[in-house]
Amino acid sequence: MRQDYGEYFNVAHIEPESHIYGPGKRYVIWLQGCSLACKGCWNQQMWSFEPEQLIHREQLLDEILQYRDIDGITLLGGEPLQQAQNARWLLSSFRRSSGCSTVLYTGFTYSELVKRNDWALLREHCDLMITGRYSYSLRNTNLRWRGSSNQELIYLAGGRIPLEPPEDANEVEVIIDENAAIRVLGYPDSGFFGTLIDLESLGFV
Ligand code: SF4
Repeated sequence: MRQDYGEYFNVAHIEPESHIYGPGKRYVIWLQGCSLACKGCWNQQMWSFEPEQLIHREQLLDEILQYRDIDGITLLGGEPLQQAQNARWLLSSFRRSSGCSTVLYTGFTYSELVKRNDWALLREHCDLMITGRYSYSLRNTNLRWRGSSNQELIYLAGGRIPLEPPEDANEVEVIIDENAAIRVLGYPDSGFFGTLIDLESLGFV
């Protein structure tokens, strides 16, 4: 299933500065919508394809480029490749304009990406892809950047991310914003793409 929002992204959430979805400080975008329905997914609120926040891709790129001290961007979700055309445009445009790196999480496996023709179209624009469904039975909360051990790290493009497997570690990030809202990001007991828990919406703060 590929969704068409024209030149708009359907966005679930943005964290302009995060450190746990790829190397360094990254601008992280969760795209809304996923039909892969992995058992145990902790981001089920991101399955629906109903518009959440529609943001024009040029506007999003301009906003990202305001952050001059980031190491790169990360796309996750939801399933970014169910908004493949805009995802490809953003990865390629950002990489060209910034000189920084790109990371893409996708629930599709390498062989599925080849079949879908996404592999050929994306390989030039991603420095690192993290591929494969979250597998509840292979869950491992000690892996850096991944939620289950079947998921693969594939290093690509022009070497902007060193080809070194990261040291495994369980990472969790707590963000307190200017309105004192608290968000917990990461893989405390979570699914693949990183749990995004808004404690305020759950009534804890
Ligand atoms: S873990 Fe990722 S790919 Fe799997 S259902 Fe959840 S959002 Fe989709």
